[in-house]
Amino acid sequence: MPGRFDGKVVIVTGSSSGIGKETALHFAREGAKVTVTGRSLERLQAVKKELLGNGVLEKDFLIVPADVTSSAGQDELISQTLSKFGKIDVLINNAGASITDFEGKTGVSQGIDSYEKTMKLNVQSLVEMTQKARPHLAKTRGEIVNVSSIVALGHGWQSRPYYSLAKAAVDQYTRAAAIDLIEEGIRVNTVNPGFVKTLFHEAELGWTADQAQEFYDDIGSNKYAIPAGFIGRPEHIAKAIAFLADRNSSEFIVGQNLVVDGGTTLVLGIHAAK
Ligand code: NDP
Repeated sequence: MPGRFDGKVVIVTGSSSGIGKETALHFAREGAKVTVTGRSLERLQAVKKELLGNGVLEKDFLIVPADVTSSAGQDELISQTLSKFGKIDVLINNAGASITDFEGKTGVSQGIDSYEKTMKLNVQSLVEMTQKARPHLAKTRGEIVNVSSIVALGHGWQSRPYYSLAKAAVDQYTRAAAIDLIEEGIRVNTVNPGFVKTLFHEAELGWTADQAQEFYDDIGSNKYAIPAGFIGRPEHIAKAIAFLADRNSSEFIVGQNLVVDGGTTLVLGIHAAK
């Protein structure tokens, strides 16, 4: 059966787990050739198994272990994709994390080290990947989807200011880049996820899988946090990313944020008052 992304070549950064992994699987199932990447060889091997288990052939995916914050890693991603698949149609800038202060400080006391690392991963690597993919995306009149967050929007996240400001920068960069690059036929948009069950919260807070599950169960059943009544799953975000990467579905959407959060951003604190 023909897939929506037949013949398209897609790079998904941060695809060794969570939202990026599900996005890579989604594109591959819909006919795309995908470049999967991240730093963890173990997790990349697990994604390889899942791709093969989904009937995706080795010729249709590429695994590139790389640190997306390093210039060499970014170059590897682009060059290996071009050498295996010959072009780039879609770039999903998904790699990201809220990087904990090594002294455990939060709020305005968070150290500058965590500020720099947070910005480098969530913003600078996305800017550099955009610059490096640009000439190739111009040839294919391609698409960029950036993964931001609801924390970029109109609320303050007291304990993690740098992560929120990094994602707000992603939204703002998306707007500027969208105007600039649409002249070359490249569309740029963001998806802004709410709470999604991935490794994100374990990595950020050093939780065990059980502690993370307790958090997901708790917040997922709290209608003042998620009106939909359940925690987001990576596939919810993957489908929104695919919508924005599919010109047939979203051609006239340029430089926008697609919020995918089960209603979290609709709920003001006042609703919690009895
Ligand atoms: P995960 O921790 O499950 O996945 C993060 C991915 O980013 C992994 O594949 C990880 O790979 C990769 N990554 C992190 N640092 C680097 C690096 N330096 N170089 C290369 N790859 C890196 O989290 P999510 O799937 O949840 O996160 C995906 C995106 O979604 C992020 O941008 C996050 O900010 C955003 N988001 C997530 C939300 C959530 O509730 N889960 C909510 C809103 C936004 P590896 O460890 O192998 O290097």
